[in-house]
Amino acid sequence: MPHYTNKVKVLSPLLAIAYSDNKGARLNYPTKAQTDLLLNGAAAARRIMRAAVAELDRVVYLRRPEGEPFTSIMNYHFGLAANRLNPMLKSNAVDKSLGLKAIGQKDRRWILNKIRMGMLSISFHLNTGVYLIDVDIGTRNIIGGVADTPGAGEEGYVVGGANNPATGKFTPHCGLLSGFKNGEIHVAFAFMQQHGYTAEAVARVIIHEASHKYWGVADYYYAHQTAGYRQLNCVEAVDNADSFAWAAVSLDQGALVHGTDSNDLHHQAALVP
Ligand SMILES: [Zn+2]
Repeated sequence: MPHYTNKVKVLSPLLAIAYSDNKGARLNYPTKAQTDLLLNGAAAARRIMRAAVAELDRVVYLRRPEGEPFTSIMNYHFGLAANRLNPMLKSNAVDKSLGLKAIGQKDRRWILNKIRMGMLSISFHLNTGVYLIDVDIGTRNIIGGVADTPGAGEEGYVVGGANNPATGKFTPHCGLLSGFKNGEIHVAFAFMQQHGYTAEAVARVIIHEASHKYWGVADYYYAHQTAGYRQLNCVEAVDNADSFAWAAVSLDQGALVHGTDSNDLHHQAALVP
């Protein structure tokens, strides 16, 4: 299988990168500003994921009351608002006490537990070290081993899986081997730095792609595709990459935020509604 990248560099014990130096002809790439942004973005992704897991631990594991903004973040990003429920869900009661009958019931805690499992997996992988490959917009000519070029604003992608014929959505491999079967996380080294992405915006891209790779979730809608995103029900949303990314960012921020365009530079740009 032909490869595009030819260089691997370890930037820190928790971050390795791969890119193309065009067989030595491309000097000073990636630049210090670009590698600094990757380091800061990866660090922000680790911190954001730990914060998100701590919040889900608090509610799901320690059974503390949800409170705000937790309830609003779950309702918005994971389709738990009253008008978006999936018929499969038997109860959406917030802070429902745990009775014996509730064990195994498909209720709000069942969805929150699924969210916690996803957040734990993403956090574990990002906090034990991440490998980022360059999207390299404008220069890359091979994607997933075949001749192809990334889109003009392609922040990141993961190769693997296929389009699900039932939903028409990109669906990575899922299950225990998803992290092994799915390709590595690709992010746009130069593009994000040249377009002024903050460390948190880079983190949001890394978390989105990590949710594909390690948790096998699909792309139903991106958060900036507001009309479709706001109609996802809870069963769809727990299978949607941007739901994990923006919920994690919101939990870390302590405020409900979401994307406004396909290249969100500053994640705090949009408070909901
Ligand atoms: Zn995606």
